[in-house]
Amino acid sequence: MLRKSLLSLWIVVFLVPALAQQGNPPAFDGKSWWEHIKVLAADNMEGRDTGSRGLKKAEAYVVGQLKNAGLQPAGEEGYYQPVKFVSRQLVEQKSNAALLRHGKAEPLTLGEDAIFSTRVDLAPEVEAPLVFVGYGLSVPENDFDDLAGLDLKGKVAVLISGSPSQIPSALSAHHQTAAERWKPFFAAGAVGIVTIPNPASMDVPWSRIALNRLHPSMDLAGSEFSETDGEKLALYFNPAHADKLFAGSGHNFQELAELAKDRKPLPHFPLTASIRARARLKTKVVMSSNLVARLPGNDPQLKNEYVVLSAHIDHVGIGEPVNGDRIYNGAMDNAAGVAVLLDVAASLKRHPEDLKRSLLFVFVTGEEKGLLGSKYFAAHPTVDPKSMVADINVDMFRPLVPLNLLTVLGLAESDLGDVARQVAESDGVSVQPDPQPLRNVFVRSDQYSFIRHGVPALAMDVAPSTPEQKQMFQDWLTHRYHAPSDDLDQPVDLAAAGKYEEIVQQLLVKVADDPQRPQWKAESFFRRYAKN
Ligand SMILES: [Zn+2]
Repeated sequence: MLRKSLLSLWIVVFLVPALAQQGNPPAFDGKSWWEHIKVLAADNMEGRDTGSRGLKKAEAYVVGQLKNAGLQPAGEEGYYQPVKFVSRQLVEQKSNAALLRHGKAEPLTLGEDAIFSTRVDLAPEVEAPLVFVGYGLSVPENDFDDLAGLDLKGKVAVLISGSPSQIPSALSAHHQTAAERWKPFFAAGAVGIVTIPNPASMDVPWSRIALNRLHPSMDLAGSEFSETDGEKLALYFNPAHADKLFAGSGHNFQELAELAKDRKPLPHFPLTASIRARARLKTKVVMSSNLVARLPGNDPQLKNEYVVLSAHIDHVGIGEPVNGDRIYNGAMDNAAGVAVLLDVAASLKRHPEDLKRSLLFVFVTGEEKGLLGSKYFAAHPTVDPKSMVADINVDMFRPLVPLNLLTVLGLAESDLGDVARQVAESDGVSVQPDPQPLRNVFVRSDQYSFIRHGVPALAMDVAPSTPEQKQMFQDWLTHRYHAPSDDLDQPVDLAAAGKYEEIVQQLLVKVADDPQRPQWKAESFFRRYAKN
């Protein structure tokens, strides 16, 4: 990495004015937060890929910090909860795909035109007609069914990611998870899915997705976790080349993308081509761990219940070089979240406010592989599953600007959202629901694993409030998100990070002390998973 010397300058620029503004020194000033990130996102952590040597080092650092802070181990082996994975990697030289039209094969260039998704257990060979299914969503709650009247038996569905505006953001995100996505297609007899990413919501440009297409995918070992049985083919198709799919159908991709950008309904129609795909996979077993620590509460009854604070510790590891840098450090994604947990754990232990409920600090692995560590933890928690009253998840909260506005994911789903609003507003911070429903952020981090097991959950992100700030956040996604430049050499606002930690801590304490445990809202779709 380059230009590290600029870092100290940024700290001075951001920290000094922030301290000058506030009368009392804040409980969190962002300094210890950044110190943790400097360790966790250093090059010698090698990007913390699930199961890697670098991630093990990062885990050892976190365990050392938890011990120092005096937190109790609450995993299966001390602080550790081992998790077993199967990794799948495409052998590209022995794999290929082609469109078949009028008896002629038009080969697709892997990487350029399309990419195999190894998140599903690809069949060695598939040949099937293609049908365009719009967003491919089937949402009975909203009387919306893209699949109605379509014959999908033995066919491969082609869809554009996204959703029509009549489906609320959290619900449309839920229906686009790999497992929920596949259910209606499996029921209709389809054998695979070709996904065209919605150009209006692509966080990572196609070129960077293509660059790392051969990085292994992972899945939790064990049949209880298989969610895409029967899905023989999964391909991502480059939106810039998508007209290859639509040739001869009477439609073109631009017309469809225009509708999808504005969340308008999409048409459905058969395509003139079939697809033929051959995929060869190399698989192996990978072991990794979640880390779990407990801070006991003091109420004789309520101490048996837990408020969970979670953050993923893994990132994507070492990959293809971008500007000569191969280490994907994951400073904001998500050394930043791990650092929040460490700071809050140490702070609450030092100044034990009268916590009634206990707190559980959960550092999950395998998030970047599909929320896998949290999925495992939520299915096999190291405490009584019914004792977890809430999950607050911290993932890539991005303190790039002063903290005046927080996005609360799950704001309207449970009364946790109301508590978050109260706490933030008492600190002079406004809250907003998800402003970019197309990005499906609600299901893209570990809170979703808890939600699927009935635990009310939310996540909060620092939000931009001016057009300039919005552009800055967008540029961050384009250039740094899942890139080697999400590293220690980037401007962050330490005061914003400190204020964020303050809000997280206040929220935790409030939920821990409330005689009532958080409840799903009566109208929340996710209430159906509640067990209490
Ligand atoms: Zn990530």
